[in-house]
Amino acid sequence: MAHLRKGNRDLIKEINRNLALNLIKSRGPISRTEIARLSGLSPATVSGITAEFIASGLVHEMAEGESTGGRRPVLLRLNHRAGFVVGIKLMEQAVISALTDLDAQVLHHRITPLTTVHSAGQPVNPEAILPVMIQAIEQTIAESQVERRRLLGIGVGLAGLVDGEAGICRYSPFFGWRDVPIAEPIAAHFGLPVYLENDVNTLTIAEQWFGYGHGVDHFVVVTVGRGVGAGIVANGQFYRGTLGGAGEVGHITLQQGGPLCDCGKRGCLEALASDPAIVREARAAIGRGEPTALAQVEPLTLEAVLAAAEAGDGLAQRLLADAGRWLGIGIAALVNILNPELIIVGGEGVCAGEWRFGPMREAVRAYAFNSLADRLKIVVEPSGDETWARGAACVVLGELFKPPVQRESLKVPA
Ligand SMILES: [Zn+2]
Repeated sequence: MAHLRKGNRDLIKEINRNLALNLIKSRGPISRTEIARLSGLSPATVSGITAEFIASGLVHEMAEGESTGGRRPVLLRLNHRAGFVVGIKLMEQAVISALTDLDAQVLHHRITPLTTVHSAGQPVNPEAILPVMIQAIEQTIAESQVERRRLLGIGVGLAGLVDGEAGICRYSPFFGWRDVPIAEPIAAHFGLPVYLENDVNTLTIAEQWFGYGHGVDHFVVVTVGRGVGAGIVANGQFYRGTLGGAGEVGHITLQQGGPLCDCGKRGCLEALASDPAIVREARAAIGRGEPTALAQVEPLTLEAVLAAAEAGDGLAQRLLADAGRWLGIGIAALVNILNPELIIVGGEGVCAGEWRFGPMREAVRAYAFNSLADRLKIVVEPSGDETWARGAACVVLGELFKPPVQRESLKVPA
């Protein structure tokens, strides 16, 4: 819900500040004259606003620009080191954290293992996880040696259904959580705003911010690995859906009565195309006595299946191709609904290479409607752990540069 500020005068002032700040961020180095021309603000208003930015350290004056005959204009640029944010991704086994500047450059990142032992299907007490998240953030800040007062906010990404507005994890398949408050306890500890977002969404925001999706109005990020998910950008806007659940493509039913999914239903895309699905099918084939080198392999992992495929094992090659084909069918459905110009395939499963993604591409072309796939670009990009945490940091940065009517207040310290 948008927060309308008290007093229209303050609001207008803040909108003007935001307009000028975004121009400096996107067009800088830029002169005051140019800011006034592009924003429609009066030169006096621009002078006042930019003086405030300079006083707070958010904007720097820099070497003079091109002279057009008269006095050379002084140019302004955003000081990317005026503030910092921390992004974390909560994974099943670890917390990945990164500290970035205002340009989303990672200054420091770390991996903090989760030492809690939990068995599949058993809910994990959030009391066991939250302190590890807080400690991971503390250590990231300490190790980066950034002044604490320069921190602007914390972004948290995790798998599942996330209510960002309330800062609550509505459903986590990995931890068995329902309605667990995440943002509030972390915000209380650090005294900073905390933004919660689905992890695939954080990756999508990162792609829009500095990845392949930069400047692309219609694109979808599809992640494949432990699960299958999607993040959607339509008309240049990140698309969240009513409950923040847009993009749960992993749970569209592709095979009635098919294999059981983590969500409790059968035949979901995720149950057919994820890494665990490939391993499950390999086990089943070994159990049926199908000839394969995998019968001798322990532990049976996606990496083992990939290695066997590379070594010429027919079963391993077929299982990767089957999973890729199911993924392609799921992506074709996305193409028919959203007609994107770009699909970015990321996530840990991307290591499985062309054995999986060749058949995926073929299936997208085969199953997309008419010519919708003709000009579609598909990029397969391995995303390192750090990228996910950087994405969570981008959620905070996105808030900083958002128009004031839509955001909670984030202040840059003087
Ligand atoms: Zn499912």
